[in-house]
Amino acid sequence: MCNSFNKKFLDEAAKALNESGDEPFHSDENFMNLAIEAAIKGVLANDGGPFGCVIIKDGEIIGTGNNKVTSNNDPTAHAEIMAIRQACKNLNSFQLDDCILYTSCEPCPMCFGAIYWARPKKVFYACNKTDAAEIGFDDEFIYKELDLELSKRSIPFEQINRENAVKAFKAWKEKDDKIEY
Ligand SMILES: [Zn+2]
Repeated sequence: MCNSFNKKFLDEAAKALNESGDEPFHSDENFMNLAIEAAIKGVLANDGGPFGCVIIKDGEIIGTGNNKVTSNNDPTAHAEIMAIRQACKNLNSFQLDDCILYTSCEPCPMCFGAIYWARPKKVFYACNKTDAAEIGFDDEFIYKELDLELSKRSIPFEQINRENAVKAFKAWKEKDDKIEY
């Protein structure tokens, strides 16, 4: 695992602890404060939106992230996605078994999906969707799109070449040594 990374965050955790006073080092509140700190640092560094995320396993930080959409030119570089990628890399696994994810804001639909694919055991969030909408990060339209028929959605989806695409599914189905997930 990445020790320098953990060291940095442990130092910061200690600092946050000194500042906040009475929160135990390994408390949920303390880990959430680290996620919030990542969000603030990201804003100050012009990384992207004001969102941070920390992932813990067995009381140890295994992943952290902050929004880097604008600095990475990556619309998927949300804090949760960044942290999930780092945590999975550190764990050498595509699953976040027994992990806890702390995100400074209630996840958007994309991150919500990513969290479900990664399967941590619990998620804590701080700000909610309404707080995010108030500063211009409104993902409500995506939830509304989900409820609409395909033909009524703002980005047209059209099905083509299904008969070719199912060949990939056939290959998967018939493969004996596949890694299921
Ligand atoms: Zn997101």
